[in-house]
Amino acid sequence: MEPKTVLVVEDNELNMKLVRDLLRFADYAVIEAWDAETGLELAQIHQPDLILMDIQLPGMDGLTATQHIRRDANLKHTPVVALSSYVMNGDKQKALDAGCTGYLTKPIKTRSFIQDLVRIIGTQPSDN
Ligand code: MN
Repeated sequence: MEPKTVLVVEDNELNMKLVRDLLRFADYAVIEAWDAETGLELAQIHQPDLILMDIQLPGMDGLTATQHIRRDANLKHTPVVALSSYVMNGDKQKALDAGCTGYLTKPIKTRSFIQDLVRIIGTQPSDN
């Protein structure tokens, strides 16, 4: 079965490594971008099945990047799950308002991460 492809946009090396390892272990193919601009470019090229978007990024932030994705004819239906390292009042609502499909907080909960993702996107890694 073809693994589903996940684009991870994350500027923190340890978080990137953790998310990459968890996704690969669950048979996802992982594409990495370390800033939003690169993420948008790789999203266009690879048309991933899911985008994990850190909110705090150098340059363009993850919510602005998500707004770009939602305005893009080829990407507007792609699920975007926001990752945030802190929870501010209204942060989750801001993510949803920007067009994110769901929201996960960091630190990543390693044992439930994949289940949490699947719950948000409503599909299994190896479906169809
Ligand atoms: Mn960050």
